[in-house]
Amino acid sequence: MARYTGPVCRLCRREGMKLFLKGPKCFSDKCPVEKRNFAPGQHGKDRKAKVVGYGLQLREKQKTKRIYFTQEAQFRNYFEKAAQTRGVTGEMLLQQLERRLDNVVYRLGFGISRRQARQLVRHGHVEVNGRKVNIPSYQVSVGEQITIREGSRKLGVLEQAKEFASHQTSPTWIEIDRDNYKGRVLALPKREDIQLPVNEQLIVELYSK
Ligand code: SF4
Repeated sequence: MARYTGPVCRLCRREGMKLFLKGPKCFSDKCPVEKRNFAPGQHGKDRKAKVVGYGLQLREKQKTKRIYFTQEAQFRNYFEKAAQTRGVTGEMLLQQLERRLDNVVYRLGFGISRRQARQLVRHGHVEVNGRKVNIPSYQVSVGEQITIREGSRKLGVLEQAKEFASHQTSPTWIEIDRDNYKGRVLALPKREDIQLPVNEQLIVELYSK
């Protein structure tokens, strides 16, 4: 599937806020949102038009899509599925995004960013219930155990990620055993478990038109 491979800091500058796509750099004074807090491109410094209505809804959708590194079609599919699921549609949408295997590997602290976690999955370093799964969009379920494969545990990026994760807040819906490179899904994430600076209701309004 096609995916964005350009500079990710541009995405944050476009949204005018930190989306935390690069791990430690996001918390340093090297973050471009700190240094150049205006939109990228030739007209980035022009006076900003006030964003209202459709514009607000669109920005909220783009922001969420970019945080989870999903493409438009796939994101739309998540919405369609959420709309058919019992519960609040916006919350169901975020729940599906949060249950993606690459996101769970990131939440477990085995990648400094979702992008790095995605690469770990794609390169076959991750197992679910003892079987290799290399599909980043795989939806984890309650009770499943996610492990870094034994032969992959010496990867330098894992040590760096574990160190970074030790300073971050751990999710409450996953049991984490970083020393043994594993974690287990205890429950499906509720909205309050998902620390995300987005207003999902605006996305629902956008797609419901
Ligand atoms: Fe966004 Fe992180 Fe880049 Fe800052 S360093 S612009 S938060 S990805």
